[in-house]
Amino acid sequence: MYRILASVTTLEHHLNAVANDSEAYRPEACPHCRAGGLWRHGCYHRKADRAVGTQESRNPVPVLRFLCRACCRTCSRLPACMCPRRWYDCAMQQVVLLLILAGCSVHQCCRDTCRVRATVRRWRDWLSARSECFAFFLRSRFPELGRHTERNSFWRHVMQGMSLAQAMAWLDRDLVVP
Ligand SMILES: [Zn+2]
Repeated sequence: MYRILASVTTLEHHLNAVANDSEAYRPEACPHCRAGGLWRHGCYHRKADRAVGTQESRNPVPVLRFLCRACCRTCSRLPACMCPRRWYDCAMQQVVLLLILAGCSVHQCCRDTCRVRATVRRWRDWLSARSECFAFFLRSRFPELGRHTERNSFWRHVMQGMSLAQAMAWLDRDLVVP
């Protein structure tokens, strides 16, 4: 299970923090059983840098792992700039979703953002499938969002007020897995 560290929004910041200030990543409680006092448990690496293949690429990027002494399960802490299970960063996903919400066709959206059709469709369908659940939790945390009852205007408002990465980090904190 992933937990997101909302304050780390760039890969540079993440690499720096892992090397110098890894305490920031230690979860307060186990996401499985809520016990405290998690141990550092090494790290694994994943591809996260979109500048793949270039000399400046920072892949593979380390992700810290923690072990719960109570239930013996592990969890990882991801920075907000590395969306769980997604290759592209949240910023690009946000651009694509804002275009879709503004009424752009998938075709137009692919042309404007240089993303392939399957990616744009996957992101569109992901938001549309999870929208009601996400909106429910975001509205209970940010009551002013209750004013936006129409789905598209709700999401436009969320992405303008905070970023998609921050919204996902809030959902993650409420244990709604994005
Ligand atoms: Zn546990």
